[in-house]
Amino acid sequence: MAIQFNFDNSYARELEGFYVPWQGAEVPSPTIVRFNDALARQLKLDPCALNSAEGAAILAGLVIPEGATPLAQAYAGHQFGNFSPQLGDGRAMLMGELIDTRGERRDIHLKGSGRTPFSRGGDGKAVLGPVLREYLMGEAMYALGIPTTRALAAVATGETVRRESLLPGAVLARVAASHLRVGTFQFFAARGETEKVRQLADYAIARHYPALAQSATPYLEFLRTVCQRQAVLLAQWMTVGFVHGVMNTDNMAISGETIDYGPCAFIDIYDRKAVFSSIDQYGRYAFGNQPAIAQWNLARLAETLLPLLDDNQEEAIRLATTEIQAFADEYTGFWLDEMRAKLGLATPSVHDLHLVNALYEAMDGQQVDFTQFFRNLSQAALGDAEPARRLFADDTKFVTWLTEWQTRIETEGILPTVRAQAMNGVNPIYIPRNHKVEEALQRAITGDLTKFEKLLAVLANPFEERPGLEEYAQPAPAEFGPYTTFCGT
Ligand code: AMP
Ligand code: MG
Repeated sequence: MAIQFNFDNSYARELEGFYVPWQGAEVPSPTIVRFNDALARQLKLDPCALNSAEGAAILAGLVIPEGATPLAQAYAGHQFGNFSPQLGDGRAMLMGELIDTRGERRDIHLKGSGRTPFSRGGDGKAVLGPVLREYLMGEAMYALGIPTTRALAAVATGETVRRESLLPGAVLARVAASHLRVGTFQFFAARGETEKVRQLADYAIARHYPALAQSATPYLEFLRTVCQRQAVLLAQWMTVGFVHGVMNTDNMAISGETIDYGPCAFIDIYDRKAVFSSIDQYGRYAFGNQPAIAQWNLARLAETLLPLLDDNQEEAIRLATTEIQAFADEYTGFWLDEMRAKLGLATPSVHDLHLVNALYEAMDGQQVDFTQFFRNLSQAALGDAEPARRLFADDTKFVTWLTEWQTRIETEGILPTVRAQAMNGVNPIYIPRNHKVEEALQRAITGDLTKFEKLLAVLANPFEERPGLEEYAQPAPAEFGPYTTFCGT
């Protein structure tokens, strides 16, 4: 029996000219390496039917299922600050859209499905290591409660792909609220096609923020809302220690989801300057720069919307500038909310910003494991500050801070056990530690998925401490050395 998808492809239907109809390349022997049963069910798909030879051929892009309208999307983007007027899906295609069990529209997108008219010099392929990395990181972020695209399946294609060496080819079947990017707006704005930008904005509003369609100033509200979603997202990234690594405008989603996991990583020791990506030579996308880069990217989105904001260009610039400037306070507000929760504070106070900044100052340069610190702080809430204190190389500033924090929490009159439990509910014990990710991926590409499966299972439940998983809560051993990630497509 044919696999049922019940596609409803609004992008193909409503945005003609924003894509090229396309189909996946021939591949020798698609086989599913990892399938996401729970996500399939959310998409009203039958996991048994899809996790099959027939499903593998579909999810590799080899076979077009009934109702699909596969296409390669056009987009532009600023890469490391330089504008490329034409990027687009160079190694991916949108297979179609489904309405999930919550009534939400989700893209099914295949990454690594072969060359397209947007491929430029590339081969259109993806390789198994990075495909499984995106699978793992997306699932980890999802379990942490952070908006993200997710993997439906990783499919090996059976061919070898030339990178620095020959590597196993793969396709990632990815699910997203949409693949509308800041760069999608830039594509048409850069060509001066204002009506196309308007059409795209109307589509984005209808798809993601339908209430805004009723507004007297829908495009301004749209810009404001996208800024808010990004402020929320960045606050979440910054409070778990996530470094995206390539925050180009084509890698920023209008939906507010984390998208395009490439050379991303979680910080181990707290360091605002942390950079993992081999190509980020000047630290443009360093951990501490991310909120400012998000704001820069949003300014690029705002530029594309100027003609829609007001007929008078000066007024349009004034309106857009106000929104972009508001991002900074918006971000700080969400970030402070996250930080209060991490510190176990139940009520806001005007002194919180000072308290949080003083903590980061105390951690700065002291080789403190970021994840362990916040997790151990719940023990300080129960009266034992030693597990948190001993993480500092020099604890002078921390000891002063601790007194301030203890005084602050005492004013709230909350039971210590209740506070500690709340803290453990927001401060993960298990994150995708770089050495564990590398170990799992290196084994997986040789065909042994046991470590990958184990790590996925650990990360699926990041807040609940479980016996036997101690090694997953530990920083990398010294011999692991400094960690470098690669774009590895
Ligand atoms: P990324 O850095 O992965 O976000 O990709 C940036 C741009 O390069 C996008 O337009 C991709 O489609 C394109 N691209 C990346 N890798 C390849 C590849 N192997 N073949 C063709 N295009 C690629
Ligand atoms: Mg990208």
